[in-house]
Amino acid sequence: MGSYMQAPILGFLCQMCTEVERHVIHLYGERARHLQLVEKMEKYLSIRVCQSDPLPKTICSKCVEVVLHAAMSKKEAAIKPGPAAPPPEWTCP
Ligand SMILES: [Zn+2]
Repeated sequence: MGSYMQAPILGFLCQMCTEVERHVIHLYGERARHLQLVEKMEKYLSIRVCQSDPLPKTICSKCVEVVLHAAMSKKEAAIKPGPAAPPPEWTCP
């Protein structure tokens, strides 16, 4: 019986905090799509996710909270009148 602490894979790498987590959400999975995580990461946190880049495509539940919170607080701020800046164009390389 070996120790599970020696297991080579403890979880998945989070794209945002780069920590290895056992509970992650795949950025192109159904749940992330439902929460519009990729769109929110780009829009509110300027984190660009591209399906063809070599970065991990999973984020941990802590970072999901961060994304959703950022989206929520910036949406509230956006209600104030002011010049709306168009989002920068982004295309996958
Ligand atoms: Zn994370």
